This record gives sequence, C-alpha cells and structure tokens, in this order.
Amino acid sequence: LFVALEGNDGAGKTTAAQALLKRLKKEGFDVVLSREPGGPAISEQIRSILLDPANKAMNPKTEALLYAASRTQHFYEVIQPALNEGKIVLCDRFLDSSIAYQGYGRNLGQKAIEEINDFGLNHQRPDLTLFFKVPLSVSQKRMEKRGNLDRLDAESLGFHQRVREGFDVLSTAHPEKTIIIDAQKSPEEVADQAYQAILDFISK
Ligand code: C5P
Ligand code: MG
Repeated sequence: LFVALEGNDGAGKTTAAQALLKRLKKEGFDVVLSREPGGPAISEQIRSILLDPANKAMNPKTEALLYAASRTQHFYEVIQPALNEGKIVLCDRFLDSSIAYQGYGRNLGQKAIEEINDFGLNHQRPDLTLFFKVPLSVSQKRMEKRGNLDRLDAESLGFHQRVREGFDVLSTAHPEKTIIIDAQKSPEEVADQAYQAILDFISK
C-alpha cells in the first residue's frame, strides 16, 4: 500500500508521518517512511540542489525536472521495492506536491508536470493520498515558530496561495483514493485521523 501525505508547508505532514510510522509498526504492519524531495542518496543530493538558497534564481522548468528526477530515483530505488515486498510505504510528499508547487505555484500547469513525471514514473500513482488541510494563516504561523523563515521570505504570499489552490483542486479530484485531514487539530488528533483513514482504506 502506497500512501502519500500532501499539503502546504506547515500543515503537519512530517509530524503525522512519524506518529503513523510508530502506530502502524506497533500494530504489526511492515511499514517504511520516506520523504520528498529526498529518500535515497541520489535523491537527497538533488534535494540539496533544490533547497540551496544560492539557487533561488533557478529556472522553474529546471526546478520541475529536478523534482521529477529526484522522484523517479526515489520511486525505483526505494518505493517500488518496498511495495513489492508487501510493505506499507508512507511518503511525506509525492507527485501532487509537484503539481501544487511547480504546476500551480510556478505557473507551469498541471499537464506539463504530469507529463514529465509520467515519463519518469510510468504513470504510477499512490494508492491513497492524505491531504493535510489548514488555513494558510495557521500554517504560516507554525513555520514562523519552527524558525523556517527562509521559505516564508523566499516566496510571496501569492505563491503559497496558488500552491494551496493546487492542493484544493487535487484533493477533490479522486475522492475514492483521497482523504482530507483537518490539520488544524492537535498533533494527536491529526495522527488519529490519518491512522483511522489508513485502516479504513485497508479494510475496504
Ligand atoms: O516538506 P519539506 O519541508 O521537506 O519540503 C522542503 C521544501 O521544498 C519546502 O519548502 C517545500 O515548499 C518545497 N517543495 C517544493 N516543491 C515540491 C516539494 C517541496 O517547492 N514539489
Ligand atoms: Mg515537513
């Protein structure tokens, strides 16, 4: 089972992913957690290029291609082998983040992002996507608290609003494989919602 966690910066994906990993393991599931951009060494190297403040002026298409390259390596090196072994794979961001950030945020459009990623991924998608939803004002406050001011300063409010719009569109496009998590709740409640969503999906 391939589960992606998606949502804006500061929505609580990483915190929930850690809690999910612990709970699913405790219940006896064989589960691995990975993240994007990143994962295996090659993908982490691409992550450091992408997130280096010195590369702020990167062309948006270069950015989109690097995300797709990082994701492709991650999928074939880590995700697919784990799925073949019957594991649950939790992925902190996946393709939908690229559609939201590069497609909507950078105005490259959903179609272009899907095309370059379909080339890399052979059209493969997560089985289930959890969308962490929280008002932008709340997620931005969380990021300030976290000291993650780079991202706030680096991108305009308009950018984050477009990203958010992208996630809103994506989260309603495929209801049969999508769960919306109310991420404004406490970390414990958010983890509970996510855990229950995965159990419900498995027992369907
Ligand atoms: O989720 P995480 O904090 O690890 O993401 C690192 C940064 O990469 C974030 O600031 C996020 O906005 C950015 N990102 C992006 N495009 C993606 C995925 C992540 O700009 N497709
Ligand atoms: Mg995170």
